[in-house]
Amino acid sequence: MKELYKGKVKTVYDSGGGSAIIEFRDDITAGDGAKKETKSGKGSINAEISAKILNLLESSGVKTHFLEFIEPNKLSVKKVEIIPVEVILRNIATGSLVRRYPFREGQTFDPPIVEFGYKSDRYHDPMVNDDIAISLGLCSIEDLEYMKGVTLKINRLLKDFFEKKGIILVDFKLEFGRTDDGDIVLADEISPDTCRFWDKDTGDVMDKDRFRKDMGSVIEFYKEVRRRVLS
Ligand code: 5GP
Repeated sequence: MKELYKGKVKTVYDSGGGSAIIEFRDDITAGDGAKKETKSGKGSINAEISAKILNLLESSGVKTHFLEFIEPNKLSVKKVEIIPVEVILRNIATGSLVRRYPFREGQTFDPPIVEFGYKSDRYHDPMVNDDIAISLGLCSIEDLEYMKGVTLKINRLLKDFFEKKGIILVDFKLEFGRTDDGDIVLADEISPDTCRFWDKDTGDVMDKDRFRKDMGSVIEFYKEVRRRVLS
């Protein structure tokens, strides 16, 4: 299969007929790739979690790129052109939000905060407003509104889903892509790499912050997220 794109932790191949294969590698990175390691089994854990969640969203009426999980670490997906806008939703203040603004760590937001970022390692994914996104030619105002609406719906579905698994959905990052027909669908992955998850009872961090902050037991917690998501 022809390689279409090699990212920091995933490789995308053209599988023909308008579909693609995403291979989840065992790499883990932070700080736009400044910190990088390999953790055995991580690729398959994230692929399986993403498959389950994308499938769940699809069955709740969210259009996604997901077609099929290919064991152990690949997803078959619709081929899309990724819109270079990251959509970040925050239910609880932490991470870059409390570094950039005087929010209190752990403060909850109801309704949640939605931010747009320009997907660019070179510029470190800066937050953009609608005027900047449009002037950069990233997408249209209608696209931004559509992505925000879908993101809020995804949050309602996933907050509920994770709550039942004893997990608080703190925040997450989504990416969207355009199909050949011009439809915008949810793309990329939904995993402990792209979400913050806190254990409802213990407050344990169960996501990539364990790697970012050298907290240890990264794979053990990713496995625990997978166990609960699949249970
Ligand atoms: P923050 O802006 O606080 O660093 O991140 C907010 C949320 O979005 C977190 O769940 C984080 O994992 C996710 N996120 C933001 N930017 C990126 C990114 O470039 N890559 C990944 N994997 N996740 C991101």
